[in-house]
Amino acid sequence: MKDLPKFPYEVYPWQEMIFDRLEHSEKKTTILESPTGSGKTVAVLYHVISKYPDRRIVFLTRTNSQGENLLREARKLGLNKVMTFFGRGEMCLFKKQASEMSQGTPEEQSNYCRALVEKNKSGKGGCPYDTNYDLGWKKTIMSQEEFLEVGQEYFCPYFAQKRLATDARVLVTSYSFFLNPFIRERFLGWMETDLKDIVLIADEAHNIPDLTRNLLSSKLTQGTLAGCSKEIDQYGDMMLNKVNASYIIDSIGEALNSLLKEGDRIITTQEVTEAYMDAFQMNSLDIKNLLALMANFGLSIRESKSNEGKLPRSYIYNTSILASRLMEDDESYRVIISHSEEPSGVSLMNLETYEILSFFGNSYRTFFMSGTISPFSKFLDETGLKDPEKVVIKASYLENNLRVLFVDDVTSKYTQKEESKGRMDSYIRDVVENITRNKVIFCTSYEQLSSFLEVEMKGRIYFERKGMSNEEFVTLISNFKEKGGNLFAVINGRISEGIDLPGKLVEVAVLTGIPFPPPSPETSAMELFYEMKFRRGWEYAYDAVAATRMRQAIGRLIRSPDDRGVAIILDSRARKFRTELPNLYLSKDVVSDTNNFLDQ
Ligand code: SF4
Repeated sequence: MKDLPKFPYEVYPWQEMIFDRLEHSEKKTTILESPTGSGKTVAVLYHVISKYPDRRIVFLTRTNSQGENLLREARKLGLNKVMTFFGRGEMCLFKKQASEMSQGTPEEQSNYCRALVEKNKSGKGGCPYDTNYDLGWKKTIMSQEEFLEVGQEYFCPYFAQKRLATDARVLVTSYSFFLNPFIRERFLGWMETDLKDIVLIADEAHNIPDLTRNLLSSKLTQGTLAGCSKEIDQYGDMMLNKVNASYIIDSIGEALNSLLKEGDRIITTQEVTEAYMDAFQMNSLDIKNLLALMANFGLSIRESKSNEGKLPRSYIYNTSILASRLMEDDESYRVIISHSEEPSGVSLMNLETYEILSFFGNSYRTFFMSGTISPFSKFLDETGLKDPEKVVIKASYLENNLRVLFVDDVTSKYTQKEESKGRMDSYIRDVVENITRNKVIFCTSYEQLSSFLEVEMKGRIYFERKGMSNEEFVTLISNFKEKGGNLFAVINGRISEGIDLPGKLVEVAVLTGIPFPPPSPETSAMELFYEMKFRRGWEYAYDAVAATRMRQAIGRLIRSPDDRGVAIILDSRARKFRTELPNLYLSKDVVSDTNNFLDQ
């Protein structure tokens, strides 16, 4: 065996358990559920480099900060040839001069970049960063920041990644990059390897099904149609089978309006086809033919834009393809949904994810990690994984350091919301004014969050706002970190999943209800799909989602074995989640119970 690095920390008992279970597993796939702060990332990485010293590793993350965490552990382990790999959207330096670049899809960005590189070759002035440069491994671990620094020497950071990928030992990349089959194939090509030879480590794996569904969904809006009209103004109102392109776009717009008239709902293919026929005043076959011609027109616009040095995006092409797919009823497990909320439109949503995720089964080994993956059956059903090793770690520090309290005289249940409102407000006031620790109050919706704006409370208070810009959000968090107090946020938002507030930065999390997904055509479609496919409609579409959201929010409290915290659930229905929420206690005085626990 090659020289193995020493494990860089004192090994916790629960990490011993992880090592033991992984060491003795013969299975190709492992799903590891272990709480935040348990050190599962370093444990899994150490296991992989020890047990498979000759294998290359791809580490999948949802956010760049999770990727940074992996690099930190890799540095501690003294690993060589570790690098991040992100798409042009993050790595292209030319996008500062060409804002169009950052708006493109990966495919559009790739074509745009290729055209600029071609221009360079023919001496017509393209991208200044496309210069010859032998990077080599400047550092043994190359982070996104280090690659971006390469740009100072006028070399493209994106291409710098490609050069190093051929002999990298560990590559950290994003799900959005790797879940796309087209990009994944190219990525493996740059690594000069095959999926069957690499070890995959998937972080925060509970997100995978939702990320996949988002990747597969597309939406037709009035905004998209406005983009089509602009292209017609610019590239001409092409005659397609005796009909003007503008007539086709106007007819799609008319059909869209009539479909949207009845509000948010699931729409059948038949309804779409009828709305088209009314608007176009044609039969469905003629409409399909016209849309195919329109798509060709869009392709020629893409080519013209590319020749003009613009992002090769054609709204006409994208709209024709989607408008045509909305008429097809041979695709299984997909629904068409109308949305009145801006940008209003009609979207095509794919419900099943297991087919696209079946590639995980082709790797040498895959390790899925998360603090909140249960119920396992849902994850297995959605990923289609067969017979994996399931490892659930119960870290003892959670038992000692976390309390989850709930009250039984208030609820956010839709039918009782009004009568509970006064009690909910007074709980919030009481907690804000009488628990002096830093708190995040996780609201079930922006509507509920706004209602707390009207409650008079003494204390330092911060409110997350809907549609906040990134800059405003960063300022809000840094103020909260610096001065402390009470931060009102929505559950399942940027704070409950992505912000690290360790130690005393947050000691209390208040959940103002059970965060079931709100009733919507999407949720109904998911419920129907889960029921039809797995006989677990309500359980998967509502209960499992609410449980994961609560566990994620509560997980903000304990970021390391030394953190202590109390979660307060202001909803009597919490008792239903006893299995998912260990350390759950009914409290008759949340203020005293919280203060007593934290003062211990
Ligand atoms: S070569 Fe690099 S910097 Fe230039 S356009 Fe392409 S991705 Fe962007």
